[in-house]
Amino acid sequence: MSATPTKQTARIVIIGAGAAGIAAATRLLAQGFKQVCILEAENRIGGRINTVAFGDSVVDKGAQWCHGEEGNVVYELVKQTKLLDRTGDVLKAVKFVRSNWQILEDEVAYVLGSAIESAWPTGPEETNGSLGDHVSVNYWRGLEKAPPVDREIAAELLESMKKLRCSYTASDHLFMVSKRAHLEFHNCPGEFMWNWQDKGYRTILKTLMQAKLSEPEHLGVLQDKIQLAKPLAEIDYTQPKLVKLRCWNGELITADHVICTVSLGVLKAQHEQLFKPALPAAKVRAIKGLHLGTVNKFFLEYESQPLPYDWVGANFLWLFEDLAVLRGSERFWLESVFGFHRVLHQPRLLQAWIIGEHARHMETLSEQEVLDGLQWLFRKFLPFNMPQPQAFIRTQWHSNPNFRGSYSSRTNYTDELRTGPWDLETPLLDEAGRPRVHFAGEATNKHHHSSVHGAIETGWREADRLNQYYNARNAQ
Ligand SMILES: Cc1cc2nc3c(=O)[nH]c(=O)nc-3n(C[C@H](O)[C@H](O)[C@H](O)COP(=O)(O)OP(=O)(O)OC[C@H]3O[C@@H](n4cnc5c(N)ncnc54)[C@H](O)[C@@H]3O)c2cc1C
Repeated sequence: MSATPTKQTARIVIIGAGAAGIAAATRLLAQGFKQVCILEAENRIGGRINTVAFGDSVVDKGAQWCHGEEGNVVYELVKQTKLLDRTGDVLKAVKFVRSNWQILEDEVAYVLGSAIESAWPTGPEETNGSLGDHVSVNYWRGLEKAPPVDREIAAELLESMKKLRCSYTASDHLFMVSKRAHLEFHNCPGEFMWNWQDKGYRTILKTLMQAKLSEPEHLGVLQDKIQLAKPLAEIDYTQPKLVKLRCWNGELITADHVICTVSLGVLKAQHEQLFKPALPAAKVRAIKGLHLGTVNKFFLEYESQPLPYDWVGANFLWLFEDLAVLRGSERFWLESVFGFHRVLHQPRLLQAWIIGEHARHMETLSEQEVLDGLQWLFRKFLPFNMPQPQAFIRTQWHSNPNFRGSYSSRTNYTDELRTGPWDLETPLLDEAGRPRVHFAGEATNKHHHSSVHGAIETGWREADRLNQYYNARNAQ
């Protein structure tokens, strides 16, 4: 091995075979790097993309929709194919149901829904403060000019919609979400909820790897380059020219460059043990300051679709007296199951959502307790009988030590610490300025965090950074 590695000889180890890791590896190979390998803790690839067989085809336990078109690399990668299908407004037609079985009339739902829609900050304007403050104030202001609506119902709907919006940012409540971050997040214009029909989001990994869609285990250009069930225990970058990696099974691996794509949750829990020497203060501040929240899903499979034909789903509005009773009961966690809906291309399924600390509590319950809770919730809100499902899946993103949550966001605390994805992204260089340890993954993306397209961008970003380094060196 020559002292100065070249693209042919440089050993690049990527930690994590999620979207960012796979994007980095495939890009590096395309750029002419030969010694690329991925170490993955789970016994599968994909990370927070996890498509599993369920119902009549598959469901996604993690990422489900391709959000937008313009500026969305996922959309760009597959737009010439027929893989994506528009969801359009189908799921927007969910009903609003109260805990006394009352279904909001369309006119009332329209007035309140419009007030919520126009309550979100769009900028340019004052960026300080929380999203929760902004939305609450502007919702009530908006309603002052709207046709009169029952104030209690308006308050119930606001609470329900705040929970729905928390699922976008994986935050426990909207009062922690930074308004500045909300304005700096770039939504990609175009259809907001492209679905993957009966194939699931894993299709994008297959596309990146140029793997056969028909063969689930085929890894395309990454065949033989991914080591599964190989959790990393330590990244030692003490020495100037190489990085020593220690796996949990004791195996030692030497690399010239490492691209670390583990989730923010893994970094929060493990950075002190994972990195030797300790990470620089700015990076630690970013790890502490950024937030990784919890969003979990439930999939319920029935013999046939249990909802009336004109129902696509419902959002739950708790009467405040019912909520007080719920909070005093062992089913308190159901407060954060904010709604459910049909699943496109899966006629016999329903999907429900839970957020925040109650989502984390739900993960500690048995599957039967969770299912019993959901059945109770359906009875509480729905004016028709719901049969027992035949099969059931719930996700547990927080308690899995390889994730420790769902996706990242910037909170007011992040802003207070004056940190953000840019500090998490900064690579660790040796004294001669050579890049040693790179950081990728959704949480390192300033404008597209919490998404698959954001994760892929960061994998490409770090591959390009290495490529530029080698190209510049060769040009000297
Ligand atoms: C419930 C849910 C719903 C979502 N919905 C959407 C959606 O609809 N659309 C969208 O665009 N995005 C969605 N997302 C977000 C999206 O899934 C993520 O932003 C993206 O997949 C993150 O990719 P990543 O490569 O950054 O991280 P990850 O996918 O977390 O990859 C990191 C990998 O590192 C591995 N790892 C961890 N520790 C170690 C270790 N010590 N050694 C080796 N390997 C390790 C992990 O096992 C993992 O495979 C959703 C996520 C969740 C959880």
